[in-house]
Amino acid sequence: MQNLSDINQIKKILSKHGFSLSKSLGQNFIIDDSVCPRMAEEAVFNDNIGVIEIGPGIGVLTVELAKRAKKVVTIELDERLLPILNETLEDYDNIVLIHGDVLKINFQKIIEENLKGMQIVVCANLPYYITSPIIMKLLEKKLPIETIVVMVQAEAADRLCANVGTRKAGAVTVAVNFYATVKELFFVSKEAFMPSPKVDSKVIRLLIKKDPINIVKNEKDFFSMIKMGFSKRRKTILNSLISDKISKEKLEATLDELKISKTSRIEQLSMNELITIFNKLY
Ligand code: SAM
Repeated sequence: MQNLSDINQIKKILSKHGFSLSKSLGQNFIIDDSVCPRMAEEAVFNDNIGVIEIGPGIGVLTVELAKRAKKVVTIELDERLLPILNETLEDYDNIVLIHGDVLKINFQKIIEENLKGMQIVVCANLPYYITSPIIMKLLEKKLPIETIVVMVQAEAADRLCANVGTRKAGAVTVAVNFYATVKELFFVSKEAFMPSPKVDSKVIRLLIKKDPINIVKNEKDFFSMIKMGFSKRRKTILNSLISDKISKEKLEATLDELKISKTSRIEQLSMNELITIFNKLY
């Protein structure tokens, strides 16, 4: 069996297939043999787990997941990696390899066709150029996913794990905390990748909230308001939340009614305050 985190083996496999890494697809492959087993341990927490992996690369994390999970469905966009994966994953009969773009793929269909009756976990070393769109797609589609264990750039992890109502929070923090409970699991140095990126990474876990704890009248409009507010985060909420849908007068009256200072900034408001403002305005 090959060691897919061994840099010499990786180079050998890639050169055998005449494969050159694509920077634009975020292809930084893991070369530290402690990282993937640790991620897989976090993701597969019982014997009825079906995993969806995004971006298997040459399959280093895929095999660790397959050793532990009931089934693994792995989605890779780069067609050139398919013959490599067919070779590196050939010893496992519980892996389904899908060629596709994670942002376009129908997760509901994948789950129904491959992972019925299992507890669904998403686990991935994410392509960093689309970290937020992937996480948002997984959360907004209300899929039957229980947990997401992903590696992201350290800075993105800090934003995702920040508390709403603090300076580190952004629009994505609000969105993620709306749907899930987020926790940082462990740090991964940039030296653990080939090629080594400019920044370090972190593995985080998102536990999806089962019941709709946070209720807004219209989720799409709520997140549009949040995005707009954070794009003007240095302004007071009175100025950052005005739009063609929300007049200054209406906003002022709502803030007065809720006893929220008109000079506060969006990053200072709690989840509860943001939701209440929205529900009053719409
Ligand atoms: N899992 C491997 C590892 O840990 O070494 C590779 C991770 S690498 C950071 C990201 C992977 O995502 C690459 O294999 C890349 O080709 C793939 N990828 C990039 N964009 C994608 C997309 N839109 N849909 C599916 N896979 C994608």
